[in-house]
Formats: sequence, structure tokens, C-alpha cells
Amino acid sequence: MWNPAFLEFLFPSKCVCCGEPVPPGSGLYGGLCGECVKDVSFVPQNPCPLCGRGSGFCVCDRQSAGVSGLAAPFYYDGAVRRAIDRYKFKKRRECAPFFARAVLDAVRTRLIPQFIDAVVPVPLAAAAYTRRGFNQSELLAQRIGRSLKKPVLKNALEKCVDNPQQHRLNAAARADNVLGVYRAGTQPVKKLRVLLIDDISTTGATLRECARVLKRTGAVTVWAAVIALTK
Ligand SMILES: [Zn+2]
Ligand SMILES: [Zn+2]
Repeated sequence: MWNPAFLEFLFPSKCVCCGEPVPPGSGLYGGLCGECVKDVSFVPQNPCPLCGRGSGFCVCDRQSAGVSGLAAPFYYDGAVRRAIDRYKFKKRRECAPFFARAVLDAVRTRLIPQFIDAVVPVPLAAAAYTRRGFNQSELLAQRIGRSLKKPVLKNALEKCVDNPQQHRLNAAARADNVLGVYRAGTQPVKKLRVLLIDDISTTGATLRECARVLKRTGAVTVWAAVIALTK
């Protein structure tokens, strides 16, 4: 057997944001270097349980969350924003373990893992999946499901329209942009308490729409967890 410390010496992990080596045992969740951590905007402890944001940034008076609770470790800003863009648009799938560890930590501290029966990633449309080669939310869901010892239902939802990216639209357009875009997939969620996983939540329109479809097909409760929230 290879010694893990020796393997780390041979293949040190690289910072998910700047690409510099992260020495073993250092950095945030073993994936973000000490320099980049200084530019991270963390969601504080005890955030709003519904929209997941810290005080001053709660959006619950303006929009319904559509989910029973939302957990996120970061705001979409600074080093985390650059790292997510690198993960998605530069197709750095090796960043997935870092993001999964961060999201899992938020799930464990802000939701109740015993109340989750299955993990469901927000799907990509087939064309988008082919363009990217992977679904960034599905890679997280797989790792989170494994850690929580819950099944991952990657085909519970289907995205039937390749709509424009949500973060490029304003709030009203975002809500319209996701209507009718998701439908029930081949894996049933009847009577299940589901944890929905996505990368970024802005107005919550995508989570709300996915939760609506899951509940219509029999899910009892829908929680959600994302890497980052916009302020
Ligand atoms: Zn870095
Ligand atoms: Zn709130």
C-alpha cells in the first residue's frame, strides 16, 4: 500500500482558486491556500435557516425560499467566486472534493442530516452536460451522499430546456427563465425527504422550481445546500 503522506508529497493538492500547491494539513478544507483564504467571504454561524444568509443579507421578506432550509458555507464573492468559475468554466473537476467538504460541513452544522433520505443534484440540460463533460452539482452530490450514507438520485430531476445561465439575468427574468425547465426524471422521490444540491443560489429561483417539481412527484420535504449564495 502507498503511504498517503508519501502520495501527498508526490502529488500535493493545488489551491482551487490560484493553483499554488497546498501543503499537507494546511489550507481551508485542504483545498484553498492560506493566501486565498484571506479573500473568502464566509456565511457566519447561525444564519437565517430558510435562505441560508447571515444577518443583513436575509432575503426572506422579498422572496419565498421554496425549500424548508438552505445551507451554504460561502458567499459568492472573492476567492470562492474565482474558484467556482474555475471549477465550472475551466472544467477543473479536481476542485469537487474541496467544495463537497465545505458544503457537507454546512449541511452538518445547519441542517439535520438524520432528516435526509436522499440527495438530488440540480441537473444540467443534455447539451450543457455534453459541453462541460460533467455536472458540477452532481459531483458534489455524489461525495455528499457517500459521506452521509444516503442514496444519490441523479435522475430524480431532468432539465428539459437549455436555458440561459441564471446569473446573467435580472431577478424577474430569472424566475421566468426556470419555469417549466425542470421535470420529474426516472427515479422516484415519493415519501422521501430530499437534500437538493446546486452550486450557486442567487434569487433561489432554480431551487424553488426544482423543489416544486420534487414535491409534486411526492417528496415530503426538500432541503437544499449550495456552495455559495449571492449577498
Ligand atoms: Zn490560492
Ligand atoms: Zn432569510
